[in-house]
Amino acid sequence: MKYELETIPVWRAYESGAACPLCMLQDEAEKQYVKFFLGNSVMAPEMRVQVNETGFCRRHFHKLLAGEGKLGLSLVAQTHIDEVTKNVAGKLRAAGGLRRKRLGAYVAEAREQLADCMVCRRMAYTLGNYTFTLVTLWADDEAFPAAYRASHGLCFAHTLDVAEMAARILPRERSAEFLSVTADVLEKSVSDLAADLESFVQGFDYRSSGHPTEAVKSAPSRAIEKLAGRG
Ligand SMILES: [Zn+2]
Ligand SMILES: [Zn+2]
Repeated sequence: MKYELETIPVWRAYESGAACPLCMLQDEAEKQYVKFFLGNSVMAPEMRVQVNETGFCRRHFHKLLAGEGKLGLSLVAQTHIDEVTKNVAGKLRAAGGLRRKRLGAYVAEAREQLADCMVCRRMAYTLGNYTFTLVTLWADDEAFPAAYRASHGLCFAHTLDVAEMAARILPRERSAEFLSVTADVLEKSVSDLAADLESFVQGFDYRSSGHPTEAVKSAPSRAIEKLAGRG
């Protein structure tokens, strides 16, 4: 395993005490890619062809729009609008007069093109690497299992991602062990969270002292991050 390069960020995320270390790394990757696609590298011919073709999803077009520098983005928009128009108009004409089921397939294809995104593609690739590294660290690094157990777990989506990765890359028994530890960590983190959330809700009671701890104040956002990842 390319040790340091890949393991350092995962260790760093665990040492930070993040509510979900993979969400934290995903967030960093997203910022980095949004910055990249606002930069000059996008002007290089090969990259431009790819970006013009694929475009960005709704979330990332808006993140790009909120960033610095609109020239690259305007050039992308100019060409990408043509690509999408050609596709959508073509699909509408082809689907005209078709029954619902077959028309649905055309619409689904057009939606797929709208949802495709250079930033999402790269994030998925990077997160796949981090997920692989996390499971490999658990299996190979002596110190990591304790950090994994002591963590706040992962959000539900990333819990399922690491489970799937373990089943793919670990021998059956080790994978079963990893899944069982992961279930323990999940339950423990949710029960801690539930207690803080309960105190938060109780805080609205007129009899409450009105001095919640930091853990109690952050309980709603941690609960949503557990359910839905970072926004
Ligand atoms: Zn997560
Ligand atoms: Zn995206």
